[in-house]
Amino acid sequence: MSSDGPTIVLLGAGHAHLGVIDDWLKQGPPEGRTILVEPRDEMQYSGMVPGWMAGEYRGKETRIALEPLVREAWIDWHRCRAVGLDPVHREVRLETGERVAFDLCSIAIGGAGRADNLVGTDPRLIDIRPIDAFMESWDSVEDTATPRRIAVIGGGAGGVELAFGARNSTSRPDVVLIAGEHGLIPGHPAIARRVVERELERQDIIVLTGEARFDDGALMVGNEALEPFDAILAAVGSGAPSWPRASGLPVDEDGFIRVGPTQQVEGFPHILAAGDVARRTDVRVRHSGVHAVYAGPVLAKNLRRLIAGRSDLATYSPFGKDFYLFNTCRGTSILSYGPLGLKARWLRQLKDWLDRRWIARFSGR
Ligand SMILES: Cc1cc2nc3c(=O)[nH]c(=O)nc-3n(C[C@H](O)[C@H](O)[C@H](O)COP(=O)(O)OP(=O)(O)OC[C@H]3O[C@@H](n4cnc5c(N)ncnc54)[C@H](O)[C@@H]3O)c2cc1C
Repeated sequence: MSSDGPTIVLLGAGHAHLGVIDDWLKQGPPEGRTILVEPRDEMQYSGMVPGWMAGEYRGKETRIALEPLVREAWIDWHRCRAVGLDPVHREVRLETGERVAFDLCSIAIGGAGRADNLVGTDPRLIDIRPIDAFMESWDSVEDTATPRRIAVIGGGAGGVELAFGARNSTSRPDVVLIAGEHGLIPGHPAIARRVVERELERQDIIVLTGEARFDDGALMVGNEALEPFDAILAAVGSGAPSWPRASGLPVDEDGFIRVGPTQQVEGFPHILAAGDVARRTDVRVRHSGVHAVYAGPVLAKNLRRLIAGRSDLATYSPFGKDFYLFNTCRGTSILSYGPLGLKARWLRQLKDWLDRRWIARFSGR
């Protein structure tokens, strides 16, 4: 611990760490110094991206400017990426070559794109992650190509919403959604799956089941070539960034950082991790914005308690929080929660209200 008090380093300012910044704003920062490492000026809220593709939101309505928050929370900011971490000597390595020492560190850098690993490379392939790069690529597809036919790879919630977003974008392209061998929205209740299936059908989105891959420049499912496509979007789930494993942090077989119920990293109690980069070892927690957001206040509490030398740390319980509101981009939303699946206009109004309220909470400073 330095003579000026302890140093907390936050890596990433996305869905999970906004909760920590919010806590510092509300209660004042804890003693010592907080340093943020985050390359982006704005936090991109993923839940509004399909609506943005369909012209329901302007880009800036879906983002939160970080500078006013960080300034008001008395946080020092390195606008760059972390590229490594020494968990024993408590040091983060930045892409600039600098090293930042910490007493406590919290990692919420999100997931990494992995579409080209799974399906191969192609100049038309646009991975949903990182999401800001996706939005830039989608903008240029719309500006230059007026897409007529689009493939979406991935049958999970992200892929389904991307299909709705693309289908209702300016040129109203034909959309083919390629769900993997587990089919549409695996892990969601059967009734929600049926409601989603019906809506895809109603919007004339063709759904294919099977593993997509590129073969000699053509997108294939099994032995069937599906071309032509003007753009190929992929939402094939979150991959893990490579540096946590290379840094000697404990990771699961996919490279996600292993954490327990207090979000402390296994074997390194002075390091916490949450959101898409983390994997709970005691209970299944889906990689989703909802869980990342709800884990934020737990990170904040535990950072404060660890600094105070307390051992009564808070735990994050995922139970009852696995809800998802799909935007059909046609004035309705589909709720998937517990055993429920339901489509309604009022659900779209509710989603819009929740999304805008969340953005507003962090804006206008
Ligand atoms: C199109 C789409 C729609 C979605 N819709 C929903 C939805 O409706 N509901 C839902 O629950 N979930 C949704 N999700 C999932 C949700 O976006 C993620 O689960 C959530 O963003 C994870 O939050 P996080 O805090 O872990 O990471 P993020 O919010 O991704 O934040 C990570 C931050 O870390 C920064 N960063 C990355 N690497 C580094 C580094 N090396 N050093 C420092 N900083 C770094 C990034 O710039 C970023 O700001 C959606 C995802 C997509 C792609």
